[in-house]
Amino acid sequence: MNHDAIVVGGSFAGLSAAMPLARAGRDVCVLDSGRPRNRFASASHGFFAADGMPPLGLVAAAREKLGRYPSVRFIDTTAVAAEATAGGFAITLADGDRLDARRLVLAFGLTDDLPDIPGLAERWGQSVIHCPYCHGFEFIDRPLGVLATMPMSSHQASLIPEWGPTTFFLNGGAMPDEETCGTLAARGVTIEPAPVVSLHGASPMLDGVRLADGRFVAIAALYLAPRTRFQSPLAEQLGCAVEAGMFGPVITTDAMKLTSVPGVYAAGDIARPMHNATFASADGFLAGTALHQNLVFG
Ligand SMILES: Cc1cc2nc3c(=O)[nH]c(=O)nc-3n(C[C@H](O)[C@H](O)[C@H](O)COP(=O)(O)OP(=O)(O)OC[C@H]3O[C@@H](n4cnc5c(N)ncnc54)[C@H](O)[C@@H]3O)c2cc1C
Repeated sequence: MNHDAIVVGGSFAGLSAAMPLARAGRDVCVLDSGRPRNRFASASHGFFAADGMPPLGLVAAAREKLGRYPSVRFIDTTAVAAEATAGGFAITLADGDRLDARRLVLAFGLTDDLPDIPGLAERWGQSVIHCPYCHGFEFIDRPLGVLATMPMSSHQASLIPEWGPTTFFLNGGAMPDEETCGTLAARGVTIEPAPVVSLHGASPMLDGVRLADGRFVAIAALYLAPRTRFQSPLAEQLGCAVEAGMFGPVITTDAMKLTSVPGVYAAGDIARPMHNATFASADGFLAGTALHQNLVFG
C-alpha cells in the first residue's frame, strides 16, 4: 500500500504530525520503537494541560486519541532503512517488510550520551536532570550541582541559583575565563574544580557526590547537559542536510519543517536546537499541516 505519509517516531513530534493528516482523512502510518527520550522521568512537566503526567502515559493518551481516526495505522517496530523511490519513499522495517509513502516525517528523537560516572545513569531523569523548567521545581531551595560537560555548562551553572544554592563541578576540566567566573560569583555559585568520582544516596534520589580528593559535597540534584545523537540513521540515508547544534547534530529544516530533501519533513528534538515536549509537539503539528498542503498543492 502506498501511504500518503509515513511518520517515523510516535512520540510528541510524530503523533502531533500525524494528527492534522488524520483529520484530513489521509492515510498515515506511524512507526514507533517505544523509546521516547524522557522515559526515564517519572513525571513530565510543563506540557499544556498535562503537567505531572508520566511520559509514557502522556504518549499513550495521545496515541489513543489519534487511533480514533480511521485512516491512521500504527506499527510498533523500528524503521531500519529509507530510500527515495519513483513514487516517493520506501521504508524498510526491522522484520524486513517494506512500506511505501508519498511523503515522510522524521520524528525519531535523540539519545543522550551520559558521562560515565558511577551512580549517574541510574539517576537520569530523577535526580540527575538536564532542564530546570522540566524538573527544577521539585528541588527548589535545596543544594544543587551542575556538572561541566561542555562550554555551555557555565551558562547553566549561572541559571540554576534561581532554584537553589549551586555548586559548579568542573569535573577536572578547565577553569572558565575571568568574565564567566565573575558572572558565576555574582550569582553566588561555588566553583569546585576536582573530578566527580561517584554519586550517592538511596537511588534514584541523590544525597551528594564524592570528589577525587575524597571530599563529599551534599546536593539534592545534579544538572548536566548531555551530548546527543540521532536515535536513527534515516536522515543521513535519505541525504537530509544536518548541521552542528549546541548539544549534537540537528536536521536542517525550513520554517515549515521541510528538510533539504523534497517530501521529507523533520520535527521534534532532531530538528531544533532547544529541546522540550511542547516545542516538539508544535513542530510536529506544523510538519503535518505543511506535508498535507504539499500533498494538496505540491
Ligand atoms: C530525562 C528527560 C526528562 C525530560 N523531561 C521533560 C519534561 O518534563 N518536560 C518537557 O517538556 N520535556 C522534557 N524532556 C524533553 C522531551 O523528552 C523531548 O523534548 C521530547 O521527548 C522530544 O519529543 P520527540 O517526539 O522529538 O522525540 P522522542 O520523545 O524522543 O520520541 C522519539 C520516538 O521515536 C522512536 N524511534 C526512534 N527511532 C525509531 C525508528 N528507527 N523507527 C521507529 N521509531 C523510532 C522512539 O522509540 C521514540 O518513541 C525531557 C528529556 C529528558 C532526557
